[in-house]
Amino acid sequence: MTESNIRGRFAPTPSGRIHLGNIFCSLLAWLHAKSANGRIVLRIEDLDSVRCPRRNADLLAHDLEWLGLYWDEGAYCGTDSDEFFQSRRSAIYEKYFHKLEQLQLVYPCFCSRAELHAAEAPHLSDGRVIYGGTCRNLTAQQRQEKLQQRAPACRIRVPDSSISFCDGHYGTCSYNLLHDSGDFIIRRSDGVYAYQLAVTVDDALMGINQVVRGCDLLSSTPVQLYLYQLLELNPPAFFHIPLLTAPDGRRLAKRDKDLDLDSLRKEYDSPEPIIGYLAFLAGQLDKPEPLAAADLIKIFDAEKIPHTDIVVPAQLPKL
Ligand code: GLU
Repeated sequence: MTESNIRGRFAPTPSGRIHLGNIFCSLLAWLHAKSANGRIVLRIEDLDSVRCPRRNADLLAHDLEWLGLYWDEGAYCGTDSDEFFQSRRSAIYEKYFHKLEQLQLVYPCFCSRAELHAAEAPHLSDGRVIYGGTCRNLTAQQRQEKLQQRAPACRIRVPDSSISFCDGHYGTCSYNLLHDSGDFIIRRSDGVYAYQLAVTVDDALMGINQVVRGCDLLSSTPVQLYLYQLLELNPPAFFHIPLLTAPDGRRLAKRDKDLDLDSLRKEYDSPEPIIGYLAFLAGQLDKPEPLAAADLIKIFDAEKIPHTDIVVPAQLPKL
């Protein structure tokens, strides 16, 4: 069958071994692209190179291969594969950062993490805190004084206006940028460009037109769309999926060791039971049964994916 122009991506942050929730997301992103004869790009989101050493990324690539979730372009693929590691792309982010500076929308923020959290501002699903605007209107002199104390992060000013978009799974979503998001960080105080800027620039430059990711990032979507507008880049279509949670309602995290691929590979000799179980959780099978990822392409139906978070037991049932 001829290839379509759909370009999806895996965009993992290799801060530890991948767990069931990461695999669920990768499987659905892969099925979305592959069922439409599209391509998948692997981009390693290792902006924080201390938390994300190269050996984690190496292991992650092996894990994806073992799972049968192959990719067509990107990291670990071809001669330009280093370009798909965010830790190698800061010169590119810098260029776009300057564009935003020229729009006079960037300002230094001297607030510490502790101050931000102490402010009891609402937390968003993506972990951000809605910024109260402490450093928004500092005078030039106040900025000079604070610069003596600490290196600032850089925030971008957002307007008091709404952004609406149609999520492929959750439908129409509307956010007021100022009240529901707040001014957000585009460069950290240590000089590392922040996720929101990097992901927007990368998806655009890598020609990604289909983003499938966990619904914890739904609240990041309006700020990314705002960046797409300011930088005059083309946004992808967004499709957010429910999260896998532990029985106590917490979203699965790297610390749920029993469900990371290290434990799962000790338990299972092949990926089929894991993939089949996840396909069942994603509404694609009536009951869990061992299946290869490639066998799911033909039966994949995005409409069957649940809309609410999915509880998984602390240990997978034997298949
Ligand atoms: N790197 C992010 C993560 O692993 C995903 C970012 C995205 O899909 O936009 O959670």
